[in-house]
Amino acid sequence: MKSYQNYVNGKLVPAVEGQDEPIISPVDESVLAKVPKGTEKDVDRAVDAAAAAFETWQDTTPAERGAMLLKLADRIEQNAEELAMLEADNVGKPIGLARSEVPFMVDNLRFFAGACRCMEGKAAGEYLAGYTSMIRREPVGVVGSIAPWNYPLMMAIWKIGPALAAGNTVVLKPSEQTPLTSLRLMELAGDVFPPGVLNVITGWGDPVGSGLVRHPKVGMVSLTGDVATGKEVARTAAASLKRVHLELGGKAPVVIFDDADMELVIPGIKTAGFANSGQDCTAACRLYASERVYDRLLGELVPAVQSLKVGSIRDEDSNMGPVISAEHRKRVSGFLDRAKATGHVRVLTGGGAGAGKGFWLQPTIVADAKQTDEIVKREVFGPVITVTRFSSDDEAIKWANDVDYGLSASVWTTNVNRALNAARKLRFGTVWINDHLPLVSEMPHGGYKQSGYGKDMSMYALEDYTQVKHVMARIAQTVGSSFLPS
Ligand code: NAD
Repeated sequence: MKSYQNYVNGKLVPAVEGQDEPIISPVDESVLAKVPKGTEKDVDRAVDAAAAAFETWQDTTPAERGAMLLKLADRIEQNAEELAMLEADNVGKPIGLARSEVPFMVDNLRFFAGACRCMEGKAAGEYLAGYTSMIRREPVGVVGSIAPWNYPLMMAIWKIGPALAAGNTVVLKPSEQTPLTSLRLMELAGDVFPPGVLNVITGWGDPVGSGLVRHPKVGMVSLTGDVATGKEVARTAAASLKRVHLELGGKAPVVIFDDADMELVIPGIKTAGFANSGQDCTAACRLYASERVYDRLLGELVPAVQSLKVGSIRDEDSNMGPVISAEHRKRVSGFLDRAKATGHVRVLTGGGAGAGKGFWLQPTIVADAKQTDEIVKREVFGPVITVTRFSSDDEAIKWANDVDYGLSASVWTTNVNRALNAARKLRFGTVWINDHLPLVSEMPHGGYKQSGYGKDMSMYALEDYTQVKHVMARIAQTVGSSFLPS
C-alpha cells in the first residue's frame, strides 16, 4: 500500500511529528493508502516556507506566473487518467465523472494563466491638484486554502489558480478524507513552481485547518466546506481580521413551471440531482413543480431515476457510486427517517442503504414535501431529491428563496419573460434557465446569504485574491518653467 508524503518547500516530507493515518475506500471500506497526519507544527513549517517564497514570488511578472500555471495544466492533462482513477477510488465516484472533471480543471488553470496578464483597474490621474494617483493590485501574501471531499482536486485547482496567478503563495489543506489526488499532483508537478510557492499538507480541520486560520503569517483563508465550518473559520479569522473567502453549502431550488419542456427537465434532474451521489453544493435537490405538471413530472421522473446505474465505479456507464463515509450515510439516512416520520411525504423510489461493504445509498425521490420540512430547508448532500407542489409563480419564487442558502438555482420554462423575471428575483449566486449544473471558467461561482462570500473562477476570483493599493505622488503644481526647455 502506498504511503504519501506532504509537499513543503519543494520537497516531499513526512509529518513533522511522524504520524500517518489510513484513507478508507467508500466503495468497499478497504484501506487505500496512508497519508501524513498533520499537527500545528506542519502548519508552521509550511507557512514559513510559503512566507519566505512570497518575498521573491511577488516580484515575478504575470507572464512568468502564467507560464508556470500553463505547465501545471499540461502536467495534469498528461496524467489525466491516473488522476481520474485515483479520484474515483478515493471519493467513490464513477470513473466517467472523474474523467470529465479533468478538462475543466485544466481549462481553469489556463484561464487564470491568461487572465492575470489582463487585470483591469481604474485610470491613473490627478484627483487633487499637484498629485498623481494610481491604483496597484497586489497579492495578499500567504493564502491558506482549505478544500472539501466532494471534488477534491477540482476544488484545490479552483483555489490554487487565482491565488498563484495573483502573486500569492499557497498552503493547501485537502480534506482529511480525500487528500490523495492533491498529494499525487505534487509528486507529478511539484517542480513546476519555485520551492515554497505551493505547499500541500494533510490533516484534520482541527488542528491543521484551524492552525492555518490562526497563523499570523497567513494573510487570507479560502475555504470550501460546510456552512458551520465557514462560520467557525470566520469567527477565528476575526481575531486578526484576516481576509476570508467562503464557498459553503447549498440547497438549490429547481422551479418547474407549467410550460416547462419535460424533454429537458427529466434528463436534467436525473443528472444534476444525482451526479456525485448528490454530494454537490449545486445539486438539483429541491424541486418545486407547478400543480398543473406535478403528477406528470413524477410519472416521468420516477422511472428515469430508477434507470440510474448504481454500481462499480470502474464501469464507464455507471451513474452513481456510494457516499463518502459511514458517518455521512448515517447523516443522510437520518434526514430520510425524519422526513418519513412527518407522515405526509411519499418516498417514491429508493430510501434504502445498500447491503454489504461500502457506503451505498439508493437514489431517492421524496414527494409531497412541504416547505416547512427539514428535508426541504437543510442541505442533505446525498442522492435525495424532494418534490413540492406550487400553485402560482409567486409562491414558487417565495419558497425557492425561503432557505438560509444562496448558491445556485434553476428555472424551467419556455416563456422568456417568466424565465428572466424568476432569474431576477431568485437570491442565488448562479441561476440557470432550462439547465442545471454547467459552469465555465470565465464566469463567477459563489454564494449569496449563508452560502458564503467571495467568488471562484472568472476575473472576480482573481480580484478576491488581491488587495488594492492607492499610490499618490506629489508632482509639480503646473507644467511650469522648470519642465520647459530653457
Ligand atoms: P467540511 O466543512 O466538513 O470540511 C471542509 C474542509 O474544512 C476540510 O478540509 C476540513 O478538514 C476543514 N475544516 C473543518 N473544520 C475546520 C475548522 N474548524 N477550521 C478550518 N478548517 C476546517 O465540509 P466537507 O464535508 O468536506 O464538504 C462538504 C461541504 O462543502 C458541503 O456543505 C458542500 O455544500 C460544501 N461545498 C461547497 C462548494 C461551493 O462551491 N460553494 C463546493 C463544494 C462543496
